[in-house]
Amino acid sequence: MTTKQTKQARLKSLPGVDHLLMAAGESGLFRDIPRTVILDALRTTIDSVREDILADGTPDTGDAALLDRAAGLAGDIMKNRLIPLINATGVVLHTNLGRALLCRDALDNIGTVSASYSNLELNVKTGKRGIRYAAIEDLICELTGAEAALAVNNNAGAVLLALNTIAQGTEVVVSRGELVEIGGSFRVPDVMTKSGCCLKEVGTTNRTHLRDYEGAVNENTGLFLKVHTSNYKIQGFTASVSLKDMVTLGREKSIPVMEDLGSGTLIDFGPYGMPAEPLVSDRVAAGADVVTFSGDKLLGGPQAGIIVGRKETINLIKANPLTRALRIDKLTLAALESTLKLYRDKREAVQKIPTLRMLTMSYEVLARKAGALYKDLEKAIGPNADLEMSDMESRPGGGSYPDLKLPTCAVTIQPRQISVSALEKELRAATPPVIGRIEDNRYIIDPRTIQAGQEEILINTLTTILNKK
Ligand SMILES: *Cc1c(COP(=O)(O)O)cnc(C)c1O
Repeated sequence: MTTKQTKQARLKSLPGVDHLLMAAGESGLFRDIPRTVILDALRTTIDSVREDILADGTPDTGDAALLDRAAGLAGDIMKNRLIPLINATGVVLHTNLGRALLCRDALDNIGTVSASYSNLELNVKTGKRGIRYAAIEDLICELTGAEAALAVNNNAGAVLLALNTIAQGTEVVVSRGELVEIGGSFRVPDVMTKSGCCLKEVGTTNRTHLRDYEGAVNENTGLFLKVHTSNYKIQGFTASVSLKDMVTLGREKSIPVMEDLGSGTLIDFGPYGMPAEPLVSDRVAAGADVVTFSGDKLLGGPQAGIIVGRKETINLIKANPLTRALRIDKLTLAALESTLKLYRDKREAVQKIPTLRMLTMSYEVLARKAGALYKDLEKAIGPNADLEMSDMESRPGGGSYPDLKLPTCAVTIQPRQISVSALEKELRAATPPVIGRIEDNRYIIDPRTIQAGQEEILINTLTTILNKK
């Protein structure tokens, strides 16, 4: 037989989809898998085997082999794409890993509110239509001292909405040093354009003075905007204008003042040995007409954009048709209300809100966690890796505290049988995936962001990878 004939014979021996579908039903390999998925998996399997034959391969074309492959594929198709993973990076607010973890109260409330009908937009007292923000407005005002508040989809939406409401068709004065880009897709100049405002840059990259703002004012000026430089810091010969001074000038010229805080916080981190991040209540007290901040950065709640400020301005924002397009959903609202409620007792907030708990975790606690991890790994992995406990630094991440490093105690792993990059790759491919980082040819595990109950999974995963022969 020539090669060509063999190839033809092999192709001919491939069973058809109908035959395999029947065999699949009898095999018991595809229980609980929808017919459309089984068909998809069978077709893909036959196609790939055919290609293999055409490329001079000699795959097994028997029913059992094909069904096995298809079952594996079908299993993959049925798996969730959005899955939990283990964050061993020590970066508490990691945008790629989902930013803030929700607290127990928030998770429970999401279940309670969304499994049932709710008073989302009904005033139960009057029987009339209610306001979506009723669940959180009073609470936010209580916690920030603001006259009024609302929440929308995220802070980028909050900024867009506030700019569009207050300053559409006018010039918005911003310091050059504050033309922030967050994660590539949020850039102050672009948001400005999309909101229908005209950006008026003042000052220089490193220094902006009050006279710069004053000099920029003309009959078309609609807003002074301050943007918190939440992911970088300008150091050296610098000058910027305080919100308070901007407010004073704004009052004098009848120009409203807004601040995009990014990661505004409701508690003072000072007592935890961390530098001050702007407190929302301070900005409100300084007289800003509007302040916006994220729900899932330092606040530690769900993705949301919170807008606080003077009643008159907030009412205008609520009435903007864009608000409807950016409106917050009931799951987020439920989570936000529960998270915010914890802030009435700051100590309770720090204990119960995972973001705050991880940020304020003491070195002693971290060293204890690292020690336990080290001991168990040592026992399990023994001679297959060099293990060490090492004093390092974790970063808060996610557009907060640009230059802050928190002391931590990490476990470092230097594998003996495989390379450190192979270890990193295998950990990422594990179920659940483990995400860490490599430093000085060592794999670093920072216990700060490892959640209760994940230690054992982590140890088992590492053991499987490192003890492989
Ligand atoms: C993070 C951030 C934003 C965007 O907030 P999201 O909640 O991610 O939409 C906008 N402005 C500043 C200053 C930020 O730090």
